[in-house]
Amino acid sequence: MRVPAKLNLQLAVGPPRADGYHDLVTVFHAVSLFDEITARPAERDGVSVSGEGADRVPEDGDNLALRAVAALRAAAAADAGGVHITIAKRIPVAAGLAGGSADAAAALVACNELWGTGLGQPQLLEIAAQVGSDVAFAVLGGTAVGRGRGERLTPALAPATSYHWVLAFADGQLSTPAVYAALDRLRAAEAGGPAAESGGPAAKHGAAEQGSATRHGSAEPVLDAALMSALRSGDARQLGRALSNDLQPAALSLFPALRKTLAAGLELGALGALVSGSGPTCLFLAASADRALDLAASLSGAGVCRSVARATGPVPGAAVVPAVR
Ligand code: ATP
Repeated sequence: MRVPAKLNLQLAVGPPRADGYHDLVTVFHAVSLFDEITARPAERDGVSVSGEGADRVPEDGDNLALRAVAALRAAAAADAGGVHITIAKRIPVAAGLAGGSADAAAALVACNELWGTGLGQPQLLEIAAQVGSDVAFAVLGGTAVGRGRGERLTPALAPATSYHWVLAFADGQLSTPAVYAALDRLRAAEAGGPAAESGGPAAKHGAAEQGSATRHGSAEPVLDAALMSALRSGDARQLGRALSNDLQPAALSLFPALRKTLAAGLELGALGALVSGSGPTCLFLAASADRALDLAASLSGAGVCRSVARATGPVPGAAVVPAVR
């Protein structure tokens, strides 16, 4: 299986709910940075992980891929034996690219094939949503609007435009719960009065101040009409201007060096720059494949990140690929 990383082109975060989660409106976008997953029949369930950041990924039942296997077995009452999952990671761990969720999605689709469970996509999406907020999108891929915790998906209708992205990987990780907690603290401080800490520059590229409807955390998150219009028209310039992430100020407060990375990308001609999800990966939109190549080389030379990668999107979700022998 091959399964893509996700970017959030918009991430609007509502106030914390009673269960501790936040209601989201997000625009997911799958890009051509893939983990590779193999599922083989085995006596009992197991997982082995290699590649980028493998030492930080659990090789036991806590691995999201094995949780997905267990969820499928329970939901489908599959009379199947064990399965060994092998994960070759290329999606950096705890980088805001939902690599763990991607592996879970791949394991789900793989075992559905391996066991001949025969579940259709709607049923797989339901099981995926139980495993984690971003897992359903990794099954679906493409570009889609996510609501709820991000698991209620509507594919975005858009022309077949391919966008060129540059990803700047940071030297370090950010924990998703820590970033949400920082956002809650920043919003509480902001609601406390004008003297309160602002939490960093605008998350909305091009805005003098954060332009989100959820700025004070009191409003319900709202889908950005300008972003959807950019996607419908396939206009990369418009898309670059419309990228937004409510988590960005929180991520910057915990990882201030990212300001320099974002600023460098914009100075080097990116059409838009944003922290990806909960960070610390930064994403940049380029006008063409050539521009992306230039931008990646210049960012890499500027010393503002650990490494860079180029990717295009949208790409399909978790999919079987022919075995290479
Ligand atoms: P999120 O999906 O919450 O935005 P992220 O993209 O920042 O997270 P992930 O790479 O998904 O980060 O990893 C988050 C945590 O999940 C890590 O601390 C890691 O130990 C754990 N984890 C469990 N299973 C996996 C897996 N198969 N691959 C990567 N991380 C995993």
